[in-house]
Amino acid sequence: MTAPNTTDSTYYKHGFGLKGEIKETLVEDYHSALVEKLKAEGHTYRTGDLTIRLAQEFGFCYGVDKAVDYAYETRLKFPERKIYLTSEIIHNPRVNNRLKEMGISFLNGRGFDAVPPDAVVLIPAFGVPVADLEKLKAKGCILVDTTCGSVVHVWKRVERYAQDGYTAIIHGKFDHEETRATSSRATQFPGGKFLVLLDLDEAKEVCSHMLNGGSKELFLKKFGRVASPGFNPERDLEQVGCANQTTMLSSESLAVARLFGETMAKKYGPENLDTHFRSFDTICSATQERQDAVISLLEEGVDVMVVVGGYNSSNTNHLCEIAVLKTRAYHIEDAACIISREAIRHKPVGKKELTVTCKWAKEGPIQIGITSGASTPDRVMGEVIDRLVTVLAGKELMTNDKIQSTK
Ligand code: SF4
Repeated sequence: MTAPNTTDSTYYKHGFGLKGEIKETLVEDYHSALVEKLKAEGHTYRTGDLTIRLAQEFGFCYGVDKAVDYAYETRLKFPERKIYLTSEIIHNPRVNNRLKEMGISFLNGRGFDAVPPDAVVLIPAFGVPVADLEKLKAKGCILVDTTCGSVVHVWKRVERYAQDGYTAIIHGKFDHEETRATSSRATQFPGGKFLVLLDLDEAKEVCSHMLNGGSKELFLKKFGRVASPGFNPERDLEQVGCANQTTMLSSESLAVARLFGETMAKKYGPENLDTHFRSFDTICSATQERQDAVISLLEEGVDVMVVVGGYNSSNTNHLCEIAVLKTRAYHIEDAACIISREAIRHKPVGKKELTVTCKWAKEGPIQIGITSGASTPDRVMGEVIDRLVTVLAGKELMTNDKIQSTK
């Protein structure tokens, strides 16, 4: 596949220089004066028996900032054109709904037949598969590419593996937009192969097959859907290169890579490891910082951890996964999930359905830790803090708007 020509007038990946013009709207939509205030005051808020402690790192990452910026700039630059997004720009309902209100349509896997050639198509922060990019280029649409640089970094690794004859082992969720885009980078090269593994258990199954053999049929029954077409475990696992979706649990990605390295060393001898195994940690720094910040907060000790973000946000889910190992943790999407002191609506780790948990916050002195995923606007985080104070301390906290108007 040839990379899009960055000087082409129909392909943009650096925005339109309209940052100044959209700044106020972005502040209005996503900024929280309350969150800014608490950050300036040591990430802690105390009133009576209630202490709320904010993680040191949370909320919009650089990639999300860029993607949202470009979407707003695009609307401003092309006020008369139809604008489409190939999928959600990031995994947060507040942001996606706002873009819909701005007249941006979401294709969400419906194909490109309905997209007119004079339309503008936004490529989300996760990127798109190579074939989709080719189709859009062939249509002649104006493309605004918001793919995060950290995702492109993973693509480069996977492309290199494919060019050198290594099968890309991708620790990620096969149906996640980013992983679909990443795996497509392997198969654009003749003979390029990939295998997507969800977790360490799946990695153990594959490594056991590599060492001990087993039924090819059973292997493909389990992994055929998440592997490149025509995958043959006997032929395609002789040389592997590990990579990962940028938002996975970093400790698990490292464990997966370690396991493949050990397996290759056992199978071919440590002296031949380089010929059979390559690995690069491709967790992005923003994901790492948010995971580290939750771990620090938990080590300092909180009674309850509230994790705020879209239910389909991979990095938010992983923050909650880290938290439940140490304390009671609740993944909520917004302030409305805090029903009362008695009840909270949330998504338990590993589940798709929401549930309501009663007696989630103990009586008496309580420390609540709070964080949010890389796609969660501070405005949503501020509303959750506001709601926590109302529900748990019975106190009227200055809302974002009130604080902004007194600035
Ligand atoms: S989480 Fe990481 S890879 Fe994803 S958009 Fe943010 S910075 Fe980029």
